[in-house]
Amino acid sequence: MPTSAARVPKRNKRELEKYRRLLEQKKTELSTELAKARTAEEETTEESTQDIADKAVSSYTREFLYSLTDSERTVLLQIDEALGRVEEGTYGLCGNCGKEMNEKRLTAVPWTPYCVDCQELAEKGLLEG
Ligand SMILES: [Zn+2]
Repeated sequence: MPTSAARVPKRNKRELEKYRRLLEQKKTELSTELAKARTAEEETTEESTQDIADKAVSSYTREFLYSLTDSERTVLLQIDEALGRVEEGTYGLCGNCGKEMNEKRLTAVPWTPYCVDCQELAEKGLLEG
C-alpha cells in the first residue's frame, strides 16, 4: 500500500484521479499525434525530388511539423511532471508560488506547472529558476 501521506494532499483522491485521467488521455493523444507527425515528416522527406513549387511547400510543411513537434514535446514533458505531482500529492499547487490553482485552470490545462500569475511571468521570462 503506498501510504506516503505524511503531508495530507490538498486535493482529494477522487479529484486527483480525475486529473490523472485527463493527463493520461492527453498524453495518449499527443503520442499518437507525434507518431503521425513523424510519419508525415518521413513522407515529406521522401518526396523531395519534386519541382521547386512543391519543394517550397514541403519545406514549409516540414518547418511546421518541427515546431509542432517541439511544443508537443514540451507539453508531454509537462504532463509527465504533472503525473509525478499527482503521485506525490502536490498536484494542483503552483510550482513557483505554491498557491493552489483553481479547478477551471487545471481542467483547461491539467499539465500546467504554474498558476495564471506565474505563467504570465514565465512567458515574459521573469520567472527565476
Ligand atoms: Zn504561482
